[in-house]
Amino acid sequence: MGKVIIIGAGGVGTVVANKVAQNNEVFTDIMLASRTKSKCNIIAEDVKRRTGVTIKTAQVDADSVPELVALFREFQPELCINVALPYQDLTIMDACLECGVNYLDTANYEPKDEAKFEYSWQWAYQDRFKEAGLTAILGCGFDPGVTSIFTAYAAKHYFDEIRYLDIVDCNAGDHGKAFATNFNPEINIREVTQKGKYWENGKWIETEPHAIHKPLNYPNIGPKESYVIYHEELESLVKNFPTLKRARFWMTFGQEYLTHLRVIQNIGMARIDEVEYNGQKIVPIQFLKAVLPDPGDLGENYTGETSIGCRIRGIKDGRERTYYVYNNCSHQAAFEETGAQGVSYTTGVPATIGAMMFFQGLWRKPGVFNVEEFNPDPFMEQLNIQGLPWHELFDVDLELEI
Ligand code: NDP
Repeated sequence: MGKVIIIGAGGVGTVVANKVAQNNEVFTDIMLASRTKSKCNIIAEDVKRRTGVTIKTAQVDADSVPELVALFREFQPELCINVALPYQDLTIMDACLECGVNYLDTANYEPKDEAKFEYSWQWAYQDRFKEAGLTAILGCGFDPGVTSIFTAYAAKHYFDEIRYLDIVDCNAGDHGKAFATNFNPEINIREVTQKGKYWENGKWIETEPHAIHKPLNYPNIGPKESYVIYHEELESLVKNFPTLKRARFWMTFGQEYLTHLRVIQNIGMARIDEVEYNGQKIVPIQFLKAVLPDPGDLGENYTGETSIGCRIRGIKDGRERTYYVYNNCSHQAAFEETGAQGVSYTTGVPATIGAMMFFQGLWRKPGVFNVEEFNPDPFMEQLNIQGLPWHELFDVDLELEI
């Protein structure tokens, strides 16, 4: 019996709700809870229409451990899939420990008052989860998530030593809006406006934002200007694969997007501290979120596809080889299947597969783990079955000089 609670009724929560319902031989009892219950109800009705499966819904403020504990005690889930915001990671982990619930998320903890994300806060739960006999699976979206599993799969099957890792993330979709973010604007803008950072020869190298860039060719898409940014999976991957001499993360941005971003920053709308407005305190980036398009509403007219993968260079049998593993995902196909666009889809499907791995006993051990610490093989198999098929290229030009 797979009793699961999903927290967060946004774009990713919509996809997770659909995918767990599609796999109801594994997930036998499903609840979706979020800050706004009406959003859960709309998703649950849509899932019922698409799959015939009934999902229970509930209201919860996931910033409050007592509220979470009360809900967990009532529903008694075995696993909590956290697809709310990174700010809620620790409160949800605390409630899981209090109630004996296992945990899975797609983004590492960020404090609200500091644009900084790192694993230290969640890794600090290692002993408590271990002692409680509970599993916490961290970063099980696409990136982090599938990119980490692609790396583990490459290291397991194709290399004696992986040395150079470049994660390449291209969204060649068009939503027809002048400016919109593909997931929560507050989290997204905090992520892409920070300094660039990559790993080289045992240390982190910091750059100005978007300082390193070049066009890279993406399968079925073509060349796109790609920028080195810091991304959270780099932190755990260099720890878990110590042979890596260099690890970088590249993301494509259009000129229009970067211009808007620069203006938003220059006029102070990306600020995360409180300002006084008409006798009220507001946080500019939160106000901006309220006026930007809701990422969940981009799906209907979204065309084009995403292409995310890992380009790896390393050693096999004493010889150098290259390997490129990737998935392309169509925004339109994602929308038709789940009512959400490709970026939510590529996050929600892996979260569901990670949960499936847990319930099938394949990814279940006491403690706190990043996904690359589990066996990648059954997960890779499910990617092909659940809508995110992957492709491999061997000994090709990775376009990335050593
Ligand atoms: P959305 O903003 O669309 O959805 C977030 C949901 O969480 C909303 O429904 C919101 O409720 C709910 N929520 C926020 N605060 C609380 C709270 N205190 N208590 C209960 N519910 C709350 O975000 P996305 O769906 O786009 O993203 C979800 C998560 O996925 C984020 O953590 C994001 O960082 C991560 N992500 C990971 C990716 C990966 O590849 N690893 C890629 C993309 C996203 P309300 O509707 O009431 O505001």
